[in-house]
Amino acid sequence: LTERLAAFKNEPARTADGHTVELAVNAGMAEEKLDGMVDEADGVGLFRTEFLFMQSDHFPTEDEQFHVYKQLASAWNGKPVVIRTLDIGGDKELSYWQLPAESNPFLGMRAIRLCLHEQDLFKTQLRAILRASAYGCVKIMFPMVTTIDELRKAKAFTEQSKAELRAEHIAFDENVEIGIMAEVPSVIQLADRFAKQVDFFSIGTNDLVQYTLAVDRMNEKVAHLYDYFHPAVLRSIHSLIQAAHREGKWVGMCGKMAGDPLAAPLLLAMGLDEWSMDAPSVARQKFRLSTLTVGESKLLLEKALDLDTAAEVRAAVKHWNQSQE
Ligand code: PEP
Ligand code: MG
Repeated sequence: LTERLAAFKNEPARTADGHTVELAVNAGMAEEKLDGMVDEADGVGLFRTEFLFMQSDHFPTEDEQFHVYKQLASAWNGKPVVIRTLDIGGDKELSYWQLPAESNPFLGMRAIRLCLHEQDLFKTQLRAILRASAYGCVKIMFPMVTTIDELRKAKAFTEQSKAELRAEHIAFDENVEIGIMAEVPSVIQLADRFAKQVDFFSIGTNDLVQYTLAVDRMNEKVAHLYDYFHPAVLRSIHSLIQAAHREGKWVGMCGKMAGDPLAAPLLLAMGLDEWSMDAPSVARQKFRLSTLTVGESKLLLEKALDLDTAAEVRAAVKHWNQSQE
C-alpha cells in the first residue's frame, strides 16, 4: 500500500471518472514538518495562527507575525494559503493573557468575538496578514462567525487596515479573498445571506458537530453522540455547499471529516471544492478519491440523506464500500 500511495503523492487529486478536487493541508504548529507537502498538497486550507500566539510568551508584534506569514506565503510558491485569524478562548489559552473564567467557554468569548472586542490585537494581525499577501496567494478567514454583523465588522477592520497600509505605501494584495469558517449552525441557516458577503467558506466540522448536536467536543462522557455522520450534520454541509455554489462561491472543509476516507464519497457527491486535512491524511485521501466516481457517490449520498441516525449512515457507507470492491 505504501508504494501505491507513493505513486499518488505528487499528482493532483483525481477521481476515477476524472473529476479533480483541491486537496490542501492544515498547518499551524511551529514544530510541524511540512517538508514535501508543498509538492504533495494544493495549498494550505487552514493555517491556525493561535499556535504562534500560544508558543510565544508575549503577544506577537505585527513584524513578528508578518515574518511568519510571509515565510508561509512564499514557501507555497503561489499556491493558496488560508490564514485564519486568532481562534482562542474555548479550550485554547495564552499564558500571558488571563481571560476571565466562563461557565461555558465554547459558547463564550471566543475567536472572532474576542477579536472584535480586542480591536488593537485584531488590527495588528490583519495588518500582518495583509502585508504577507504581497508574497503569495494569501486568503483571510474568520473563525466562529455567528452573525452577519460580526462579518461586516471584521470586513470593516480589514478595509481600515488596507487603507492604513495604502497610506503608508506598504504593499499588499488588493484582491485578497475573505472567507469565514462555517462552524456555527446560524451560518448554515443564513448561508444564502453570508454567501453574498464572503469569497468562500471553510466548514469546520469539529465545531459544527459540537454546536449542531449540542455535544461538547472535549467531553468523553458524550463522545458517543459526537459524529459527523449524523444526518443533521450531513444535511447542514450539503445545504451550505448548495447555497454557496448558487452564489458562485467555493467551499472548503478543514475539520477532521475532510481527511476521513469513509466520508469521501459523501463529500465528493456534495461538490466540496477544497479538502483540507492534517499532512499524513493527504496521500491517503488522494488515493481514496482515485477509487471513487461522482456518479456512484451521488447515489450513496441520496441514500444517506434519507436515513435517520449516524449509525445508519455509517453502516450504509460501509456497505456501499464493500459493494464497490
Ligand atoms: C473546526 O472547528 O473544525 C476547525 C477546523 O477548527 P478548530 O478545530 O481549530 O476549532
Ligand atoms: Mg473550529
